[in-house]
Amino acid sequence: MLLSKLLLPTLKEAPQEAEVISHKLMLRAGMIRKVASGIYTWLPLGLKVLRKIENIVREEMNASGAQEVLMPMVQPKELWEETNRWEKMGPELLRIQDRHQRDFCLGPTHEEVITDLIRTNVRSYKELPLNIYQIQTKFRDEIRPRYGVMRGREFLMKDAYSFNADEACLQDTYLTMRNTYKKILERLDLDYKIVAADSGAIGGDASEEFHVLAENGEDTIAISDSSEFAINTEVLLKEGEDISSLEGKPSPDGNGTIQIKKGIEVGHIFQLGKIYAESMKANVLNKEGRASTLHMGCYGIGVSRLVAAAIEQNNDEKGIVWPHSIAPYDINIVAIGYDKNEQIAEASHELYEQLTGMGYEVLLDDRKDGYGTKMKDSELIGIPLNIIIGKQFIENKEIELKSRAGESSINPISDIETVLDFFKDK
Ligand code: ATP
Ligand code: MG
Repeated sequence: MLLSKLLLPTLKEAPQEAEVISHKLMLRAGMIRKVASGIYTWLPLGLKVLRKIENIVREEMNASGAQEVLMPMVQPKELWEETNRWEKMGPELLRIQDRHQRDFCLGPTHEEVITDLIRTNVRSYKELPLNIYQIQTKFRDEIRPRYGVMRGREFLMKDAYSFNADEACLQDTYLTMRNTYKKILERLDLDYKIVAADSGAIGGDASEEFHVLAENGEDTIAISDSSEFAINTEVLLKEGEDISSLEGKPSPDGNGTIQIKKGIEVGHIFQLGKIYAESMKANVLNKEGRASTLHMGCYGIGVSRLVAAAIEQNNDEKGIVWPHSIAPYDINIVAIGYDKNEQIAEASHELYEQLTGMGYEVLLDDRKDGYGTKMKDSELIGIPLNIIIGKQFIENKEIELKSRAGESSINPISDIETVLDFFKDK
């Protein structure tokens, strides 16, 4: 992609409304623009990152045996009345009417629609277990949309729903999803914790959240410094405990001491049990030929929130430092004097073709600007590797490789192996 043609409106300063670093950088890097409170347009660079995360999520969900569907965003009131949630959801549920004054809502989640699908299409325990997912836009009229796409009103979620014949089978699927979420977050190269969450009436360890650790996280979590123990302090607050007394105390599991950290909830897995299936009368025939209520689980990942969370964890004073797996482009060819020197223009295009042919995603900065402006933009948008073609190329046929992480080397342009070396372990 030629940078001169890319819709990339970078900004020197972040607009005042942006409070946290990811929101500032997403605006400055030309990834998103606000349309209304909590509602954003994704620009080409932002969308590329969003799609990369989406694809990692999709690949791992498919590998786990889950099946992808696409449910409607607009949902009829009648389904929500069956679970009492038309009332219960309160003002977060955006209600709309069609031209016949029939009531609908914009889907904040899809338990009702999916349970309706399964109860009308699955008859026997033999067809189970099923784990059905989608990657789709949700709408929640959040009381306080903030931090850009971190807490939006319209946002992209991967939501999965499992249907199991009994509790043991639900637990199996739950564990499979737990492992799948680990794989996803590892591929995204994020530092995360699995945290015991508020599971309401269900109790026990029926619900866990995946938190990306970051100073700007909205949640406060208590974690042990030497074991897996981690709990959302929301749970403790509900039980009337005093969080401050936990700091530096021995972990309740007997291993290590407690530290209080901030986390961004990027995923939530939940053993719902029979609650939705009972209220919506979702049954299958069991081995004995009798109607038996389905056991359900639900598993969400905030795909758009993950973009912001990744930036919160990967940035410096110059801008974003993308983990390789989700960088919008792998390489930026920074051509200095592109407009003035034919040799430079020609060599950078040749390199562009060569690298693209090798499977890399490449930007070519063919703009009239000088080295300073070009490098500033490249560092702001976080491209992992810059290849600088300028004076040294004219004089000695050499290029400079400069990684976003700070390594740099001068190499003959013919020595393309050095580029391969850079990506070898990534
Ligand atoms: P929160 O406590 O942050 O409001 P939640 O418990 O309402 O989250 P879930 O209903 O479990 O969230 O939704 C699944 C995932 O969707 C969350 O883990 C989060 O990553 C994402 N998500 C939820 N609300 C938003 C939002 N307003 N903006 C962006 N992502 C969101
Ligand atoms: Mg919420």
